[in-house]
Amino acid sequence: MIRTLLSASAALALCLPAAAADLNEAVEADYEYLEALYEHFHQNPELSFQETETAKRLAKELRKAGYDVTSGVGGTGIVAVMENGEGPTVMLRADMDGLPVEEQTGLPYASEARGPNRDGEMFPTMHACGHDVHMTSLVGAARQLAERTDDWSGTLILIGQPAEELGLGALAMIEDGLYERFLTPDYVVGLHDSASLPAGSISYTPGWALANVDSVDIRVKGIGGHGAYPHTTKDPIVIASQIVNNLQTLVSRELSPLDRAVVTVGAFNAGSKHNIISDEAHLQLTVRSFDDATREKLLSGIARIARAQAVSAGLPEELMPVVEVEEPYTPSTFNDPDLTQRIAGVFREQFGEDRVQEAPPVMGGEDFSQFGRTPEDVPAVIFWVGAVEPERFAAAQDGGDALPSLHSPFFAPDPRPTLTTGVEAMTAAALDLLGKPASQRAGD
Ligand code: ZN
Ligand code: ZN
Repeated sequence: MIRTLLSASAALALCLPAAAADLNEAVEADYEYLEALYEHFHQNPELSFQETETAKRLAKELRKAGYDVTSGVGGTGIVAVMENGEGPTVMLRADMDGLPVEEQTGLPYASEARGPNRDGEMFPTMHACGHDVHMTSLVGAARQLAERTDDWSGTLILIGQPAEELGLGALAMIEDGLYERFLTPDYVVGLHDSASLPAGSISYTPGWALANVDSVDIRVKGIGGHGAYPHTTKDPIVIASQIVNNLQTLVSRELSPLDRAVVTVGAFNAGSKHNIISDEAHLQLTVRSFDDATREKLLSGIARIARAQAVSAGLPEELMPVVEVEEPYTPSTFNDPDLTQRIAGVFREQFGEDRVQEAPPVMGGEDFSQFGRTPEDVPAVIFWVGAVEPERFAAAQDGGDALPSLHSPFFAPDPRPTLTTGVEAMTAAALDLLGKPASQRAGD
């Protein structure tokens, strides 16, 4: 019988409080169902804003678990609601999109899917960011919470969000009336799998957790001509090179050493041939920061440096560089400190001290942030769920093979401990936030 094959986490649960052990056992008992669902999502990824079939399946699962589901919120987004008496409203979020990556994990359930992006171009697709883990965890938690309506009171809202990878899906749902058509939540909770934490463990970051993400294009103009007669030209490649060099001083010389920020030039394109001086160079930057003031300093600094190099090269006013900051940008994620500490306490109860740790912020971005800042401040928290097979993690720590990162074609979450931890964490967090006082619970 399957029970005898249960993971170490079930055995560990024996030393945990009764409620934690009970939830662990219930999630383990549901694992076969969740594994099949996970493999389905994994094999059928769809790109951002194209998550039609994914959303249909997610909606079907949540309906089956007893939720009232609305589809088509912000494109392909779905909203599932369960009202269960007086109390707060808690929103749990999963994102649904895959990436244009050709899976190379060699797993028996590896994705062989291809699909269109929103412009209709076809790509191999993969859940290389683990959003299949997020959806399966959401469904698992939905099933547990529906089984335990005697233990909580209030309203649960579960959402399947499109297009996280474009940084546009959360805003699309909010602009489509997420908080007006349904209730504005008192708390929002999300999770993300981690490619650098062992499966079975959780980490959390109070306060700033993920960065502002700005994409900036700089079109450097020049006056083209023959490569052998540079004095008759204004070479945009030389000007753009000086811009790239000077941009390095923004973080190193203009910000306080205690501020955290990144300015990376990810693309530099110019020219066509050895002996032609081009008339344009195109730079593409990613710019990361946490607070609004630092963001503003970086963006204005980029514009100033770009212009200054063009002036220095003697270009006329009409040939100044054009600097464009993509809108909308992905704002930084601020985990409400009180809410974060509260659910970290819940996780310690559920998993024990050893499996829960505080982690520093990262410069990656997540549009989960939108749920906490638009249109008003709603306490929100996103936490990390380890996805790396524990032995592989230990080997990497010992100087063995490096671990594939999120978005890598080799990223392969260790399903059982990753999913059961994700489901237990989401369920335990929601039960705590929607918890009845112990005196009102069934069985007390
Ligand atoms: Zn991603
Ligand atoms: Zn992601």
